[in-house]
Amino acid sequence: MATLTGKVAVITGASAGIGAATARELASAGARLVLTARRTERLEALAAELETEVAVLAADIADPATPEALLALAHERFGSADILVNNAGILRVGDLDAFDLDGLEGMVAVNFNAPVRASYVFARAMKAAGSGAIVNVSSIGAHVNAAGMGVYGGLKRALEGFTDSLRVELAGSGVRVGLVAPGTTSTEIFDDMKAHGRQGWDEYLVPLQPEDLARAVRFMLEQPPRANVPRIHVYSSADA
Ligand code: NDP
Repeated sequence: MATLTGKVAVITGASAGIGAATARELASAGARLVLTARRTERLEALAAELETEVAVLAADIADPATPEALLALAHERFGSADILVNNAGILRVGDLDAFDLDGLEGMVAVNFNAPVRASYVFARAMKAAGSGAIVNVSSIGAHVNAAGMGVYGGLKRALEGFTDSLRVELAGSGVRVGLVAPGTTSTEIFDDMKAHGRQGWDEYLVPLQPEDLARAVRFMLEQPPRANVPRIHVYSSADA
């Protein structure tokens, strides 16, 4: 098992849910962290709680400048960027007549463009350094068709295709690429659904907890350099 002690991990969407749990998990494994999301106070509260060195960047991940800013911060503060966890994501659902097309570009920006851009920015630096790991957070929505979920599931499928291709491109470079696909997990991601009068899936299934996904990310990252775990699906025992 490779140790994460002293490794520098950049985690997007770290102010809540799976991202915050991943920050706690990787901190307990000894990693140093760069945490990003928009809600500064949440990030600072989490940083204060963790017993490791933490740098925080409050930023919109949809801003094309954010990935470069994260890489620069990791290098300035810690001298390297060993791990990138592209976790930030949003869920907007709606049946044929209800889907808000005004939200389409925002979903593409956060759920696809941002992790792709960050993957490129970090992969280039990691390849030059000869080592690194990128974990992209996908979804059960990429594998199970659900009415009203076409945009979300479609973007996650696209992210999976990109991630698999990047893994092949970087084979042998020392940079490992993988994806973690969560099943229904009890987080704030369902708040928007509920605000629009729909039931959140976390209310009628036995949901996973964010920690269940954080353990999967850690498992992927702790493999010895000769091993790569390209994907982990962690589904609720109540998911189909
Ligand atoms: P949460 O809503 O709990 O957290 C989402 C995180 O993303 C927050 O930290 C939020 O921070 C950040 N974020 C959202 N938009 C932006 C933005 N424009 N700029 C910067 N940060 C942003 O969601 P989860 O923890 O549930 O989701 C994490 C990942 O897991 C997502 O990619 C999601 O698609 C995936 N997933 C979740 C499932 C679930 O059932 N929960 C199932 C399958 C996949 P802030 O608002 O402070 O900016």
